[in-house]
Amino acid sequence: MFNQFHSLLEIGTERSEWSISVRVQALWKSINRTTNEFRGYNMVLTDVQMNVTFFNLFGESFEKALKAMAEAEVVIVIACAKVNKYEGELYLTNYPATRFYLNPKHYSLIEFENSITRKKAEEQLLSKMFTIAEIKNLTDTHIQKDVRCSVKVKKVEEQYNWYENCCPGCGEEVNKVEGRFRCTTECKRNIPWPDKRFRLTTVCSDASGILAIIFPDDEIQRIIGKEVFDIENDESQVGADGSTFPPLLKQFEKRDYIVTITISALNINKTCKVYKAKKLDNPEENLGENEPAELKSAETVDHTMETVSETVAEPRTSSPPTEKSSNRPRGIKNKIPVKCGILAETPNTKMKKS
Ligand SMILES: [Zn+2]
Repeated sequence: MFNQFHSLLEIGTERSEWSISVRVQALWKSINRTTNEFRGYNMVLTDVQMNVTFFNLFGESFEKALKAMAEAEVVIVIACAKVNKYEGELYLTNYPATRFYLNPKHYSLIEFENSITRKKAEEQLLSKMFTIAEIKNLTDTHIQKDVRCSVKVKKVEEQYNWYENCCPGCGEEVNKVEGRFRCTTECKRNIPWPDKRFRLTTVCSDASGILAIIFPDDEIQRIIGKEVFDIENDESQVGADGSTFPPLLKQFEKRDYIVTITISALNINKTCKVYKAKKLDNPEENLGENEPAELKSAETVDHTMETVSETVAEPRTSSPPTEKSSNRPRGIKNKIPVKCGILAETPNTKMKKS
């Protein structure tokens, strides 16, 4: 069950069993405005973002367990939550079968934490703007890593094909073998109708030097709003005999872009001096890209932000039972309790006295 987690974006009300792997981005108390009564704890979880409310006793026990954690970063596994929609937004809430586990020792959690570390390293690398001179001097620790640079397109090369024929199965470039297109790399079969994809070779520059960069198909399509097929069949672009280089593709010249380049092993060992771009951004558009999205309130009552204490050092804990919860479930007779593969790793399920 825990071999693969669902993305939070996939979660819906259509089924009752989901495996998610998330971090708590924010945690706050929900207080009734008129009675001042504590209603529960709200959480915002990320892999992207998911609202979670643990009501009443379950919320209190969750707060205690979380405060007892010594680690600065706590991974929370929620086993069996109820998926609701409130004002059009998805919410996870507790119901009597719900358990939570804080930093459980489980191989899938270790992989999850490793993926966060990898993601942080990737984000850190992308936050730096490399110069062309620096890109040419990268070492093998950068193989298959993405780096960004701010460049001006000096020239779109016209002597190379502006598109390539690709195998619809594996995406590799296909060439004619005995008069027919054939995928010789992966699929080992003839391809009657290959996909045509843009492949634009450019010469780009910054103050530190010049670099040959291939612009990718999806970004060219996005920028010019056309596919290869549209241009190939447009005489105003390719001429009556189809041999003219499309003027539409020359429009990239003299433009500034922030280019995200994926560094290949061939780039590092200097076998290939042409770099492949993955993404093209306009310098102006790029400025607002990293602005955080505003958090939305979970309920229409006052929220008191709660600072989670990390000073109490206690061993890893698991969630208390919820049988005594006063949050009575409604209409859950058709719900089947979901087996949780993590139970074997977290034997302590007793309510913690405090
Ligand atoms: Zn193929």
